[in-house]
Amino acid sequence: MSAALPDSDQCAAPVTHIPGVGPGTALRLARLGIHTVRDLVRHFPLRYEETADALSREQQDGHSTAVQGTVCGPVSVRFSGRRCTVSVPLRIGTANVKALFFNQPYLRHQLLPDVSLRVRGKWNRVSGAFVVSAHEILRPGVAAAGLEPVYPLTDGLSSQALRRYIAFALRACGPGVHDGLPAELRTRFRLTGKAAALLAMHEPADPEALRQARRRIIFEEFLAFQLRLQNFRRRRGGWSQTALDGHVLAQGAQEFVERLPFALTPGQEAALAESLRDVAGAEPMHRMIQGDVGSGKTAVAFALCAALARIGWQSALMAPTGILATQHHQEAVRLLAPYGVRIGALTGDQPQQERDRVLQALRTGDIDLLIGTHALVSADVVFHRLRLVVVDEQHRFGVSTRRLLRGKGEWSDVLQLSATPIPRSLALTIYGDVEMSTMRDLPPGRTPVRTILVRKSEAGRVVRMLRRELAKGRQAFIVAPRIGDGEDDGGEMTGAVALHAQMQEELAGWQVALVHGAMASAERDAAMADFVAGRAGALVATSIVEVGVSVPNASVMVVHDAHRFGLATLHQLRGRVGRGAHASLCVLVGDPATRAARQRLQAMLETSDGFVLAEQDLLLRGPGEVMGSRQSGLPQFRVGDAVADLRVMTVARDIAAELLTNPDFWLLPAYEELRRAALAEDDDAFADS
Ligand code: ADP
Ligand code: MG
Repeated sequence: MSAALPDSDQCAAPVTHIPGVGPGTALRLARLGIHTVRDLVRHFPLRYEETADALSREQQDGHSTAVQGTVCGPVSVRFSGRRCTVSVPLRIGTANVKALFFNQPYLRHQLLPDVSLRVRGKWNRVSGAFVVSAHEILRPGVAAAGLEPVYPLTDGLSSQALRRYIAFALRACGPGVHDGLPAELRTRFRLTGKAAALLAMHEPADPEALRQARRRIIFEEFLAFQLRLQNFRRRRGGWSQTALDGHVLAQGAQEFVERLPFALTPGQEAALAESLRDVAGAEPMHRMIQGDVGSGKTAVAFALCAALARIGWQSALMAPTGILATQHHQEAVRLLAPYGVRIGALTGDQPQQERDRVLQALRTGDIDLLIGTHALVSADVVFHRLRLVVVDEQHRFGVSTRRLLRGKGEWSDVLQLSATPIPRSLALTIYGDVEMSTMRDLPPGRTPVRTILVRKSEAGRVVRMLRRELAKGRQAFIVAPRIGDGEDDGGEMTGAVALHAQMQEELAGWQVALVHGAMASAERDAAMADFVAGRAGALVATSIVEVGVSVPNASVMVVHDAHRFGLATLHQLRGRVGRGAHASLCVLVGDPATRAARQRLQAMLETSDGFVLAEQDLLLRGPGEVMGSRQSGLPQFRVGDAVADLRVMTVARDIAAELLTNPDFWLLPAYEELRRAALAEDDDAFADS
């Protein structure tokens, strides 16, 4: 904890400045997005676990939990071969238990009588002992906090090590942290100072201190978000675009629709009419089409593109992944090309020559619709006359991405497609002045998906079901909540990598592909392509498969540890099957331990209506309990949750509106950091305090 560097430099220093962090650890930390000392301070816990001071029934049932105990007798060490077991008598509450530590012989020197420690582990009925998977020795004289932070981890990084680094980082740069919020706001909303809040996030003295710290951090991140959102809208206020002849536009759309191999649903008709009206007007459109998975949102967007192409305007369609962009491209070729729309595609990995050709055609107006990934926003993508930007599953992209793309036209119209329905009031708060079209109907002829719940102990049944479906020539998705087997949950959750190995054995004879977020994107796309093309019978994945990928031949979706996923994610996952003619099955594997988790799974069994589930989701969210919330369709924050903390968001919205019209805000130094947030172009800039 050298004071040699000024505070600001300490925060910006690379993690290797921390004792014990070498290049190897730095690489592992980088995987978590941690590069500097400041990043460590902002690596907040996923959740907190109460450390019990007595063994409860739950622990006795073999669940992994944390308890606090005191060494109450001599330690014994037993070696067998290269393995070693340290047995320690612990007093936990009023009970004396035997705690077993494996392969740490040095513990006999540390675990002296009266030493207090926190241990995480499981009760083993057979040996009658508490088997420890992680422990922490508590400093004498310091009352143990009852709240244990649980951090996002990565392979090769233990939670104890991470906590050590964070503790160091907090002391190195915590006290010197610039507050960011002017005193006036802090007093008005009785908010804790930033340095104290950061400390309490990682080392909460008690639940109240944690609550206050969270409130402070959330307020700041929501305020920064609202400032940026509203300032953008303010600046946009005066923009206008060329008005188009609404009749001609509607006529063009109608001709396209008449050539489709299907009739539009009433929901599609309405969404199309509303968007056509917006696109024709002189005010740039900002509309969102909400519709369940498979409701045909893309077809509506295509009709707009077709109508615009007819009168010489270009459109862009941006998808969150390469696979999805490819699927959209194929669909566009099938539906739009016969109508004379010229289509181009940009993906991250195409040959330079082809890319140059597409870019050239785009500039000269020889492409009417450009489809691609994030690659669309790169600076060398120049349109001839861009009018419409369609963003599929828009929440995958930040505000700045949409803005960059929109800026490529003469203030283009923006249409967002979202499969996660949210109430209008919430949408207004988190997206600003967006208009909404809601499609509640599904195209006819879909085969409903049967959903069943299976206990973890009955996993053998699942394998038999999988074999049966694969033998029929069908394909299966198998989803796990995480990539590796981590220790932050005591190893209870299934990891995709281990599951993949297991499935390769159990489904011998079929190719089993694997995709997860830590794979290189080329490798991931290749595995995905194997599955889409039918070469792989099964695909083991983390929830990244959730986003719109379509494999009509897939008839089974198995979700492991289903109780760890939010309803929005489960619904999206289930939407991956039932897209073809085959009867499909969704198997939720899990042992829900909480009421909310049981209710979520029950809701999945009872309904397949995405809107009903979305409402349930808002009601049933247990903060921190749900995995995959990044896919929930809402903007993501480090600590806050746009839904669970909606009240803070509403306050932040009002304060932001007030500040932006206050001359002091634009002049006084106290507002400098917030001003920077309001003007930020980069999505993450506002989180950078
Ligand atoms: P979403 O993007 O809303 O999940 P898509 O636009 O991908 O749904 O549509 C799913 C499939 O349904 C596509 O193959 C599309 O061609 C088809 N489809 C769209 N609208 C209809 C309709 N009205 N009737 C029949 N099929 C439709
Ligand atoms: Mg789609």
